[in-house]
Amino acid sequence: MSDTGSRPIRIVGGTVVDPRKLKETQADVLVENGTVTAIGDGVPDAGDGIETIDATGLLVLPGAVDMHVHLREPGFEYKETIESGAKAAVSAGVTSVACMANTRPVNDTPAVTRFILERARVAEGARVYPIGAVSIGLEGKILAEFAGMHDAGIVAVSDDGRPVADAELMRRALECAKLFDIPVIDHAEDPALAAGGVMHEGAVSLRLGLRGIPAEAEEVMVARDIALAQLTGGRLHIAHVSAAGSVRRVRAARAAGVQVTAEVTPHHLWLTDEAVGHYDTNAKMAPPLRTELDRDALREGLRDGTIDAIATDHAPHHRDEKDVEFDCAQHGVVGLESLLPLTMRLVREGVLDLPTAVAKITSEPAGILRLPGGRLEVGAVADVAVVDPELEWTFDPMSLKSKSRNTPFGTWPMRGRALVSLVGGRVAHDGRQAVSSVGQRRSA
Ligand SMILES: [Zn+2]
Repeated sequence: MSDTGSRPIRIVGGTVVDPRKLKETQADVLVENGTVTAIGDGVPDAGDGIETIDATGLLVLPGAVDMHVHLREPGFEYKETIESGAKAAVSAGVTSVACMANTRPVNDTPAVTRFILERARVAEGARVYPIGAVSIGLEGKILAEFAGMHDAGIVAVSDDGRPVADAELMRRALECAKLFDIPVIDHAEDPALAAGGVMHEGAVSLRLGLRGIPAEAEEVMVARDIALAQLTGGRLHIAHVSAAGSVRRVRAARAAGVQVTAEVTPHHLWLTDEAVGHYDTNAKMAPPLRTELDRDALREGLRDGTIDAIATDHAPHHRDEKDVEFDCAQHGVVGLESLLPLTMRLVREGVLDLPTAVAKITSEPAGILRLPGGRLEVGAVADVAVVDPELEWTFDPMSLKSKSRNTPFGTWPMRGRALVSLVGGRVAHDGRQAVSSVGQRRSA
């Protein structure tokens, strides 16, 4: 995508949220040549060649950074492509996504990394940042080519979708990733404890007669990998934390100075194993939805800073992979298009204040991956989301821009929606006209 050559844009009358200073102010924003060049003072009046976006009554945020997305290309284009995913993202105010390596072929070589970046460039949606595999073929045996992939543009390594079962390999991964100052993203799950499980092990799994995965399957791996992060001094990032015990481990490790960060998904913040209901495969995910106690611990971890980021683990699947018996269904849910309204909901429920909630989906994940987006300051790249915080709409899986519809949030009433997304100063999404058909403003 080109960061230069587009017309200057002024965004006027909105409430600008700066997630790094945790501040919200009434201010105008000027964007020129792909960069934010003024906020407040120094924004010119409307003039020739300057486009104006009226943000009166709206929020002006850095575009969201989703650090955990499965784009499915190459190999599974029937679920999602880089283009459909990158477009779905910007339609929902997400201007950067980091995509996991479990494609076919796996992103374990510079050639695959370059392919992803090239496809993303022509898609002209969100910025796409590839994550390379930890091990060749995600097989957990031989370390992938970190140096070559890093030269080609990876921002982290992960075997996500699978744990790194071999502790020695994980140690080498942390040591090697440290040379490039990239994190190892940990799908923390003990394979033996989780084997055969399809949901959280507890009262609900017992009632439904489904094989459970104990919360400890995650906690023991979090504990192991924290020990390895301490041993190596490498940067460990725990993906999709789901269990109260894991939150406690991360909190203690951070207090002890270990370099560990963590993310939580919206579905783990909003749902419990009760959502499986009568074998609803849209509630089947890895790690599984857990108990209310776990959900509350995740929210507390987010509040006290133990959990840095909210990431969706956007995992598109074709309906034929979900309209099957619970045991056979694929894991995962789509998430890009519900990220913003579900994050805003945390603010309305008093879990987080607005700037902190915004930080969890912008500056915090951008900081972990060292990405240029995620902030709204003079000199920052002009990745911006103009959001109507009061727009009420119903989440309809059929209207998603993603190619897949597997979501447990279908029919949920949502409030808050991105109207305009800028990526590098270019209007990548403009939904201002379409809004009247999807929802209505809650009038004061
Ligand atoms: Zn994932």
